[in-house]
Amino acid sequence: MSQTRILVTGGAGFIGSHYVRTLLGPQGPGDVSVTVLDAFTYAANPASLDEVQDHPGFRLVVGDICDARLVDGLMAEHDHVVHFAAESHVDRSLVDAGDFVRTNVLGTQVLLDAALRHGVGTFVHVSTDEVYGSIPTGSCTEEQPLDPNSPYAASKAASDLLALVYHRSHGLDVRVTRCSNNYGHHQYPEKIIPLFVTRLLDGHKVPLYGDGLHVRDWLHVDDHVRAVELVRTRGRAGEVYNIGGGSELTNRQLTQLLLDACGADWDRVEYVTDRKGHDRRYSVDWTKARTELGYTPRRTLAEGLAETVAWYREHRAWWQNARTAPAPAAAATAGTAPC
Ligand code: NAD
Repeated sequence: MSQTRILVTGGAGFIGSHYVRTLLGPQGPGDVSVTVLDAFTYAANPASLDEVQDHPGFRLVVGDICDARLVDGLMAEHDHVVHFAAESHVDRSLVDAGDFVRTNVLGTQVLLDAALRHGVGTFVHVSTDEVYGSIPTGSCTEEQPLDPNSPYAASKAASDLLALVYHRSHGLDVRVTRCSNNYGHHQYPEKIIPLFVTRLLDGHKVPLYGDGLHVRDWLHVDDHVRAVELVRTRGRAGEVYNIGGGSELTNRQLTQLLLDACGADWDRVEYVTDRKGHDRRYSVDWTKARTELGYTPRRTLAEGLAETVAWYREHRAWWQNARTAPAPAAAATAGTAPC
């Protein structure tokens, strides 16, 4: 049986590592090999790939997606690309947008150029609902014009459009996903759920932005990676697929659930000055993914959150080491190259 060789960028991060563990796990398709290309920024954790380390179809390359020579060599050896690598935290982009433009925009262009040169079969670009900006009511379809409100979202919008243009201009088989907020285990503790859970477990207070009435649609990472795989295997070239979780909550409602799960009260919550340009509400219409690909989220928020909190409770070493874990020895590092 010939194997599909998949290059997964950002495969040591939260969603990318879930995708890799799923592909190479017992429920995976069985006919794929996976190369992870990851620069091991602060957001990556080598331990997230422990489960697949000895899989015969797994290979790790420590390197930067902006390194054109490295990317070119890898692209020649792969049939598909699933591109997760990004600077992903909005707050950091408000402090310094440089790495966001470099990795998210220029890095994506380096990958697309190499994919085009080597005639890669399919390029799945993982984008975000944040590219649409805030929507007070209703949900954004894939036709909604992009209207980002943070440097992070703008860099993702730029890379999302760049990816689509490589289909329109060059005919590259690019497929774009725009998903809502992911949650689950193995997420670096800076975004709201792992940040609040780890702080509560440590007996600290948690910071809630503004009035806490910002609305997000929570998507379990298992559902997200299943949707990405549906897009890779059944999606159409040049198409965008929204992926939602069907669990809309205000941040206050989410905080209540996390306090309950951790056995804490509202006296552990500190209201802090709102984030600059904080989008009030995101919501995507994922009818297209449902009707074309058969996607439906399977995880309920209650079950998924309980599992997530239990995981952080039981895996202290993973998150306590997260900030200090060294990158694995470079398997094929060509050095970090500026784009
Ligand atoms: P993450 O921050 O956990 O992981 C990002 C990974 O990319 C890390 O392993 C990091 O080392 C790697 N990386 C960063 N810069 C790199 C570079 N220059 N070269 C190679 N690797 C590099 O992010 P995540 O939450 O797993 O998100 C994955 C993708 O999904 C991103 O593209 C993000 O924009 C998108 N997304 C995430 C969410 C969410 O809720 N987490 C929601 C919508 C979209």
